[in-house]
Formats: sequence, structure tokens, C-alpha cells
Amino acid sequence: MKDALEEKDCNELKETESKHFIQEIVEDDIRSGKFQGRIHTRFPPEPNGYLHIGHAKSICLNFGLAAKYGGLTNLRFDDTNPVKEDTEYVDSIKEDVRWLGFNWDDREYYASDYFGKLYEYAVKLIEKGKAYVCDLSQEEMAQYRGTVIQPGKNSPYRDRSVDENLNLFQQMKNGVFPDGAKVLRAKIDMASPNMLLRDPILYRILHIEHHRTGNAWCIYPMYDFAHGQCDSIEKITHSICTLEFEVHRPLYDWLIRELEIYAPQQIEFARLNLTYTMMSKRKLLELVKGGFVSGWDDPRMPTICGLRRRGFTPESLRNFAEKVGVARRDNVIDISLLEFCLREDLNKRAMRVMGIMNPLKVTISNYPENQVEWMDAVNNPEDCAAGSRKIPFSKEIYIERDDFMEDPPKKYFRLFPGSEVRLRYAYFIKCEEVLKDPVTGEVIELRCSYDPASQGGNSPDGRKVKGTIHWVSVNHALQAEVRLYDRLFVKENPEDCEDCDDYKVNINPDSLKIQTCFIEPSVKEAAKLDKFQFERVGYFTVDYDSTPQKLVFNRTVTLKDSWSKIAGKD
Ligand code: ATP
Ligand code: MG
Repeated sequence: MKDALEEKDCNELKETESKHFIQEIVEDDIRSGKFQGRIHTRFPPEPNGYLHIGHAKSICLNFGLAAKYGGLTNLRFDDTNPVKEDTEYVDSIKEDVRWLGFNWDDREYYASDYFGKLYEYAVKLIEKGKAYVCDLSQEEMAQYRGTVIQPGKNSPYRDRSVDENLNLFQQMKNGVFPDGAKVLRAKIDMASPNMLLRDPILYRILHIEHHRTGNAWCIYPMYDFAHGQCDSIEKITHSICTLEFEVHRPLYDWLIRELEIYAPQQIEFARLNLTYTMMSKRKLLELVKGGFVSGWDDPRMPTICGLRRRGFTPESLRNFAEKVGVARRDNVIDISLLEFCLREDLNKRAMRVMGIMNPLKVTISNYPENQVEWMDAVNNPEDCAAGSRKIPFSKEIYIERDDFMEDPPKKYFRLFPGSEVRLRYAYFIKCEEVLKDPVTGEVIELRCSYDPASQGGNSPDGRKVKGTIHWVSVNHALQAEVRLYDRLFVKENPEDCEDCDDYKVNINPDSLKIQTCFIEPSVKEAAKLDKFQFERVGYFTVDYDSTPQKLVFNRTVTLKDSWSKIAGKD
């Protein structure tokens, strides 16, 4: 299973240049003059949660297609369910789409803007004898509906006259009836093998305030009655949606045909699934509400705001969306592909600094007391324009505890008694003495000598040292809190929980570890979301909680992924 996935990801990496099937359709349509050569897409979120990486895929696809073929993309909020919607979500969605790098100009629409129009459409269906008001309760309706193998039965209200239906529907609108007393249904076919065509509900009564229309309405269109019609009103050419809407398409087509209105073309693609990742908004909300994470923007969340806080860049997400391609059938993408895209981008843009996660003190015995030298350090070897900075060197430094071994195995090129290593950008040092805690025997300090002729880390006489290690000056280092994240779920498929049906048993209890890190002083002025590579350690991003008094970094991603072959190549 795992191998097949990896092979697939590699193939997808190679195929990024080839066209995906939606591009083929669009190009055919442009060639044939369908829609007069126009291309107009939309991204249609329901404002009932924060966007996640699956939405990012859809955003990149819709905006990307239009941009590629000189078209337009609308941002449309499908806000037909006042129970779950909120302006908090609207605002976050706009921020996230913008942050990803896309622009909808003034084309910001709301299904609720069309409530008047949708009401007229419903009236038109009633007038044509294609919709009726039904008084069956929810339970009765379920019984009448039949099953996949059994046809349904007609509602006893199905043959109401047009006038009676018009009258009742108006009364529904005027607030005469309580919630659930009546619904408006399409009159299609109670025996259709497609359950969605068995007289689906078009409108329901909800005496609930809407976040945009307030109390103007107490009947609201069902998503299925709104979505296709909104696309039609906006003259969308290609209505791109995920596979689960394939079975809805006959209903959408029926509505458009009966209403005799402009018909967009619906195209379905497979939703993005990622290993170790949960993408249902309902469940993400549950994680937030239940305090399993610190909020929608917890850096472990697959939400766009969580990924942003974690240290993802818009470029890395767009690149990922490109690499996964567009599939016609459901699949699961290995999360290491996402991490690969992240590393690839951060490698180009992150400033290098030195930071010590597990300090071991080293005293340079022959270095003058109180002397400080400011050494030149390259900011980013991948980007000459990034320049260089000065880092302080002094008599007492910290190195990484695991860069020293008292009894090293063969081929260990870092510090051990008697060995010489290069301190990056500073000097060659040689380990002369190991100090231990008399009680525990733990190594607490090393005494080393340095070679003044090796300044800058250059060999004075062609003498070779194989190991180069990072370090910070004890007196100059800044102490920062670092938050080390791991996957939020321990299972590749978070929903896989055998006998129970609660995915929460798969939450990784060790998904966050907090520790202190000692960092060179150049990061003092870093702003929130600034990104760094702590050399040899990983990529880190300044968290929102960081202050000049207390720096806080999120570990964005480790340098190399031990989990995957693909990532091992970078
Ligand atoms: P969820 O199932 O998580 O609640 P949703 O599909 O109901 O999500 P919407 O707000 O309706 O969320 O989604 C807006 C758009 O994003 C839709 O066009 C939907 O098809 C698309 N989308 C949602 N999830 C994914 C995904 N995992 N991969 C690709 N596109 C997605
Ligand atoms: Mg949806």
C-alpha cells in the first residue's frame, strides 16, 4: 500500500507539466466556442468553518484555471444554512484566499444575495406544476422515500393545485407556519433510481436570523436548490466541484432545464485526501470546541490559517496543489509530498541561523577572557541577495549535546576526546578535556583549545577536519521557546479506529512538545511569521505569541523527512 502510494506521488511529480482532464475540457470548450470562448469559474465555500488544505486545492484549481485561460473567478459564499454560518467564517475565508495569492476583485457574491431571485424561480416551478408544498413530517417523508432497492411512494400532497401551492408557499414565506410544518418539493419522480430525484426538498421553514439577511426570510433554499442556480445567475462556465456532487448533477440539470435558464457545465474531480490528516469541517470544529487543539489556527490543524501559523508559505501550498494534480477518482496523497513542497520553498527563502536545542557547554581554554569576535555568516547560500550577518564568538559556547560522544563509533566525525572539528564560521577546536557531574557521571562541560589561525573556519595549513558543527555564544544567545509539532493523528487514516467509531482515539498524545532553545542574537528583531532554518536542525517560524521579551518559534518542518523516499532526495 505504502509503496504504491509513493510510486504514485513520484509519477505525479514527473507529470506536473502535462495537462489534467479539466484543462482538456476547458481547452476543447474554448476551441469549439462553447460559452463564446469565455471561462468563468467560482470558489463556493459554505461559511460554516475555516478553510482547510482541501479547499486550498479547490481554490488553486478554480483561480488557476481562470488565470491560465484569461478568465475570471468569483468568490461566492453558499450561505443557505443560517444555523451553522457566521461572519467570522466569511472573514477568515477571504483572508485565506487572499493570502494564497488570489484575487476576486469586486466579484464577491453570496447565495443570500439571490434569495429574492431563488424565490421567483421556486414560484416559476410551482406555476409549471413542477413543485408542490408538502405537509409530511420528516419521518413520514423518510418512509415515503423508499430505499435504494425499493421505489418511493407519492406524497398525498403531491397533487395540490397550482393555486393552492402558490398560496401555501407565499404563506410559508410570510411566516404563517412554524419550522418543519411544510416544505416545498420538486415534483420529479418518486421511483427514480437516483434517490436525489425523488421529489427533493427545495425550501424549508427556519425562523432563524441569517448573518446577512437578518430576519427578512423565514424560508431558506436547500443547498441543492441554490447552488446550481447561483452558478447560472453568475454565468459561470465551468462549475467545478468534488465527486460527491456527481449524483446531484441530474437534479441540477433538471432544475436548470425546467427553469429555462443559462446552463453552466458541472465537472467533478476527486477531493484531496492526505494521510494523517482529517479534513471534515464538522470534525475540525469538534477538535477546536473540545480543546484538543488551541483553535482553528493551531499549527497542527490542516486549516489554511493553521498551516500559515505553522510556517507554510502560499507558494508551497500552490506548488503542492499543482503537484497533486487533478484526479477523477478518489485517492490519498502521502503527507510527505506536502512536506517536500514546504522544504523546497523554505530552502530558497529561509534565513539560516544557528540555534542549539540541547546545549552542552564548551569552554575554549586558550581563548582570551572577555573577548568577542563578530564572525561573518552567510544568510542563505541559496540566495546571494540575502547577504550576510555577524555572529558573536566568545570563550564560552554551547554546542549540541549529540555533537559530542565520549566513545564514538567509527566514522563519527564530530567531537570526541582528542578530536578536532570546525565550528561553523568560527574556528577549529580540539576537545582536550571532558568534565562530568561527580554524582551522575553526566558530561556537563567540555574544555577545548582553538587554533587562532583557523579564523572564519578556514583551514590554516590544508589540515582537514571532517566535522562542522553549529554553536552559539553563551553570553549572547537568546533563549526562545520552541514548539515541536508532530502529526496530529497516529494513524495514516485518522478515521480508522476498528471497533469504535470515534476518530479521537487516534489523536497523537505527543503531537506537541515544548522546549527551550538557545539562538544567535540576530533573530532578536524577527517579526511574526518570519521563517528561519536553524542550521542542521529544521525550519522554524516565529509564532503569534512571540514577544521581544519571550521569543516563541514553531517548528515548521524538520530538515529531512525520515518517513519518505521522495523527501529524502532534497
Ligand atoms: P467539508 O466536507 O470539510 O465540510 P465542504 O465540501 O462542505 O467541506 P465547502 O465550503 O462546501 O466545504 O467547500 C467549498 C469548495 O471546496 C467546494 O467546491 C468543495 O468541493 C471544495 N472542497 C472541499 N473539500 C475539498 C477537498 N478535500 N478537496 C478538494 N476540494 C474540496
Ligand atoms: Mg459543501
